[in-house]
Amino acid sequence: MSVVELVDVCKTYAGGVQALRGVNLRIEPGESLAIVGPSGSGKSTLLQVLGCLDRATSGKVVLADHDVSVLGDRRLSAIRGSMIGFVFQQFHLVETMSALDNVALPLLYQGVARAPRRRRAAECLERVGIAHRADHRPSRLSGGERQRAAIARALVTEPAMLLADEPTGNLDRRTGLEIVELFHSLHQEGSTVVVITHDQQVAARFPRREEVLDGQLMSSLLDDMVVMS
Ligand code: ADP
Repeated sequence: MSVVELVDVCKTYAGGVQALRGVNLRIEPGESLAIVGPSGSGKSTLLQVLGCLDRATSGKVVLADHDVSVLGDRRLSAIRGSMIGFVFQQFHLVETMSALDNVALPLLYQGVARAPRRRRAAECLERVGIAHRADHRPSRLSGGERQRAAIARALVTEPAMLLADEPTGNLDRRTGLEIVELFHSLHQEGSTVVVITHDQQVAARFPRREEVLDGQLMSSLLDDMVVMS
């Protein structure tokens, strides 16, 4: 069973812009994939549809064996919450909370009690390498540490897929590549990772790469993974 599958997906916005035009994409458990394309090519739209944050105009989206088009909003939101850990360019951390509490927040929404919530959040901070920053508020973290905290928060619910939207877009190149390395180690530990980026250098470091051009996907499987030098 794939984590998510898009079959002949089209997305047309009001006004007639065809942002996605017949996209076919299947993401298997344990894959690590970059979706790359220039500005305006349809990446954000693809992220919204892939992450089930928005619905396709036509075609089929299957998330963990569920046909998304027949699910009501509440059910879709519950499945999305359990299946997908989102990571954003802007981090979206809550400034009034410590890194640990930020990471624990999705578990609070799931009704997990305080002690296991904090224990699991601490484990995730450890996995992303910032256990020593657990008590810091986001403003006292570096950009790279903020993104690590956001990745820990995405991991804490043990989702089937990490879906990251331009995760290096707010970071300098070196820090950005460290974040890419972190995605690689999470992938090696078994996570399914999908990163959307306009940056070809970031995309080149993923074992599978899909290119979006004018709302369509150009598949390109790389034989060799480009390893960080
Ligand atoms: P990218 O993320 O690669 O920059 P987008 O998915 O944001 O591309 O946009 C693809 C196309 O869809 C562009 O032509 C953009 O102007 C258009 N578009 C995106 N969002 C909307 C919207 N909400 N309403 C109308 N057109 C949109």
